[in-house]
Amino acid sequence: MGLTPRQRTRARIIASELATIGPVLPGTVLRRETRCGRANCRCHANPPQLHGPYWWWTRSVGGKTVTRMLSDELYEDYRAYFEDQRRARELLGELESLALSALEADPRYGQRRGRGPTAPPRVVDKPRSGSR
Ligand SMILES: [Zn+2]
Repeated sequence: MGLTPRQRTRARIIASELATIGPVLPGTVLRRETRCGRANCRCHANPPQLHGPYWWWTRSVGGKTVTRMLSDELYEDYRAYFEDQRRARELLGELESLALSALEADPRYGQRRGRGPTAPPRVVDKPRSGSR
């Protein structure tokens, strides 16, 4: 039950790497060439001469996808925040994999597979959550 000694060691390494993470910005950043709205612009010609490339930052704000252009200078100044967010997600994903494999290897978990109730139970007690 729980993590193997090897998994426990890996989890400790991941946690210590997480401790080095600084401020993080949400969403994703892509470098893309783009077309503008002017119909007679060179970017609509054949073949098109696109604008950019520019940095495009896409994130979810209140359930809506919002995209903004970032100048090279602005992106470079905040690059570490975007990179740390990606790294934090990778590390958290690894911790999830470790915990999932521990749960799935637990014989008490395996016993219930394919049996038991088909509908989710009503909430009787919510676990405490640190997020949101
Ligand atoms: Zn254009």
